[in-house]
Amino acid sequence: MRCPKCGFFDSKVTDTRLSMDGVNIKRRRTCLSCGYKFATVERVVVEFPYVIKRSGEIVEFNENKIKKSLTRAMDKEQCSEEIIEKITAKILSRVLETKSDKISSQEIGAIILNELKSQYPVAYMRFASVYKNFKSANEFASECKLIDGEKNH
Ligand SMILES: [Zn+2]
Repeated sequence: MRCPKCGFFDSKVTDTRLSMDGVNIKRRRTCLSCGYKFATVERVVVEFPYVIKRSGEIVEFNENKIKKSLTRAMDKEQCSEEIIEKITAKILSRVLETKSDKISSQEIGAIILNELKSQYPVAYMRFASVYKNFKSANEFASECKLIDGEKNH
């Protein structure tokens, strides 16, 4: 870490502390060249895989996009920030479980559907209708039957 005063690249760590929430690590440092004292903060960074879109374009993973599509799919009465956060957290951990550096938007869609299926059937159908691009009411109906069928097994 570069000394903010003289620009020297080496410093000695004199103190290391974990923040209360366990997310940040603060280190006190002394520049080995000029003796200037400064502090640095390290943050835990979770590395999400890149997303391969239907078009083949590769984009950075965006947690907010998932929250937005969940908010759109959920019932207004049923939907609270807390619920969205909870479902999003589950989806994110599933995405991380793939242990790959790339994931397709279809795979993410499938993960979202899977999380919605049991607890939020209405949101599931709404999301599915967007995700699967249902072309007709028939397709929509057969998807409904599919869910019912799965429940019986
Ligand atoms: Zn210095």
